[in-house]
Amino acid sequence: MSKQDPKPKYAGIEVYVECASCFQSLPVNGHIQSSQCAFCGETLQLLPDHVAGPVKHALSYYKEVKIGKPENAVNLDKNGYYRFVYVRAEPTCMTCGKKLDLSAIEVGTDCDITCECGTQNPTYPTPDWVKKLVPAAVQFYAAERPPAGNAATPKARTACPKCGADLKLNEETRRIHRCEYCSTQVFIPNAAWTALHPEPKTRRWFVRYEK
Ligand SMILES: [Zn+2]
Ligand SMILES: [Zn+2]
Ligand SMILES: [Zn+2]
Repeated sequence: MSKQDPKPKYAGIEVYVECASCFQSLPVNGHIQSSQCAFCGETLQLLPDHVAGPVKHALSYYKEVKIGKPENAVNLDKNGYYRFVYVRAEPTCMTCGKKLDLSAIEVGTDCDITCECGTQNPTYPTPDWVKKLVPAAVQFYAAERPPAGNAATPKARTACPKCGADLKLNEETRRIHRCEYCSTQVFIPNAAWTALHPEPKTRRWFVRYEK
């Protein structure tokens, strides 16, 4: 196989999806993190397109954009528009913005790249559900990892105000949760709720394209 274009292409991406209920803008940081709004708990319609769409768009317009100059764009999904930013740039640290040293990172590697500032920047092969749409996209950098834990492991707890039962909560728990012992409708207190849904931070994540 001859290499026509030995220099890989890199793009940085930020995606924002608006909650239909509270209109907060929620970042989609490289995978589909949660199906609930971190602010109001409403179920979000997150779609594979919210990651794959911008990855595809950044490649399609790669030659038309200036290196290092972020471009704003919108895409249409079945629920409406969502906003994203893309930039032709090599991967940078998600904390300090310094360029990541990729010299030892082969495509297909799943590891963390430690920046000089101490931040561990994850890198992993592009998820299959993105590759299906954009076969040239081969590797993600500084993107959040898909959650590894299984939903059965409680991520937070709260006591039922009626019967005192220890309620085990996970990401799937609704804001109003029915106690499995006494059937009381329990409004999950803020502390437990934010433990389940930390306020999402936007980060620029990167993708590498190869022929
Ligand atoms: Zn919301
Ligand atoms: Zn850094
Ligand atoms: Zn109860």
